[in-house]
Amino acid sequence: MKYIIISRDDAKSKQIENRIKSEINGIYCDKNPDFVIAIGGDGTLLQAAHLYPNATIFGIHTGHLGFYCNYMEDDLDLLLSDINNNTFKIDEIEELRCDILDYNDKVITNYALNEVTIVAPTRTLRLDVEISGEYLEFFRGTGFCISTPTGSTAYNKSLDGSVIDLKLKCLQLTEIAGINSNAYRTLSSPLVLAADKKITLNAIKPNDVFVTVDNLSYDIKDFKSLNVYYDGRKVKMAYHNLESFLKRINRTFSISKEWFLWREIFLLNCFYYYF
Ligand code: NAD
Repeated sequence: MKYIIISRDDAKSKQIENRIKSEINGIYCDKNPDFVIAIGGDGTLLQAAHLYPNATIFGIHTGHLGFYCNYMEDDLDLLLSDINNNTFKIDEIEELRCDILDYNDKVITNYALNEVTIVAPTRTLRLDVEISGEYLEFFRGTGFCISTPTGSTAYNKSLDGSVIDLKLKCLQLTEIAGINSNAYRTLSSPLVLAADKKITLNAIKPNDVFVTVDNLSYDIKDFKSLNVYYDGRKVKMAYHNLESFLKRINRTFSISKEWFLWREIFLLNCFYYYF
């Protein structure tokens, strides 16, 4: 069994990396590894998925938040036992394919676990939006974020997009600063589409844009069009016990009951002091 480790550059992650290297039954190898062990946070895991798309990924979470990592820091013995005894299970996550085309007919293709975004930060971007060949709207604004259900809690959520149950197969189109006035009108709401739909964004004239695919970014001159759709490619994530979707949401985003209690005590104290 060949494996590689990608770890965040901090003392805790490096310590875990050293322990894994000394206890794992396998050969450390960066050419077509069977397993990638990503130690850190979501960014480390996204990096691992882009570098080694065919490998099975074990994510160990050592930071504050970690939506993707299925093993916590305290699960290190379990992770070693899962790898050495082949007792892990696999969660397959479908990736979004994007084809970026410029006016010189150059095509860039990549796959996103979280999202694809297109932005023109300094100029108004003008795009025709088509869904599977059907015209939707003429958009003016900064850009769009197109996300997977797993990516719905990442950049998409900061744009007020919907959080999507991981069991649903769909893709979501969310505007980034769309312009709405008496002259221009866009849908404005996030649009959740069935997984067999293809989103096409066509430039009205050559534009300079940034396209991001998870943690990667492309500076595109003379941008012509962007197609985003599922073509069946999946990332394999290893796990022992899969945390439920709602638990994951609660751990990552919800304010605890204790916080409300302390807030009530604070407000009561303010009330007594004032009156
Ligand atoms: P990172 O580890 O610093 O990740 C950035 C933040 O996004 C972290 O807080 C991470 O926990 C969170 N995150 C990533 N994927 C997530 C998911 N599926 N669900 C919930 N939270 C998630 O590393 P990075 O290389 O900067 O990560 C790239 C990602 O950062 C992009 O895929 C994008 O989703 C996110 N991002 C978010 C914003 C924003 O919210 N305004 C802006 C740019 C990029």
